[in-house]
Amino acid sequence: MKTNINHELVVQALKNGTVIDHIPSDKLFQVVSILALHTMPNQITIGNNLESKKLGIKGIIKISDVFFTPKEVNKIALIAPNAKINIIKNYEVIKKVELVIPDEIKDTLQCINPMCITNKEHVPTHFYFIDKKKRLAKCHYCERICKDEDLMLK
Ligand SMILES: [Zn+2]
Repeated sequence: MKTNINHELVVQALKNGTVIDHIPSDKLFQVVSILALHTMPNQITIGNNLESKKLGIKGIIKISDVFFTPKEVNKIALIAPNAKINIIKNYEVIKKVELVIPDEIKDTLQCINPMCITNKEHVPTHFYFIDKKKRLAKCHYCERICKDEDLMLK
């Protein structure tokens, strides 16, 4: 099925790569940071505070010739769960990636408990999402429950 993308000039301009759209403006630079875009040699276009019917304002990121792994995509779900990810090949959207918060996640989030072993020793963090809608994550080690606003990426 061919998806009509003509109304979205920024998408149209990308030949091959990934477009991350509908990022809340205040989360844009967090997405940039968790994907480590600053370390990539690829062409990257970042737009922020763009008008959006749904969000008021939004951010968008286009990355040429990069296709993320499910693990990387899961990270985006933690901070911008309603972002839309489109895979572009030859100027067309060939795939829309569904963002899913994983059941558990290792070595990505930081525990908010300063006494937690993961903050004292070199132990990779490990969280279980006990409520995906509210984004409540429970630490495997100290059992502290981290809420949406506490979820800190390492
Ligand atoms: Zn902990």
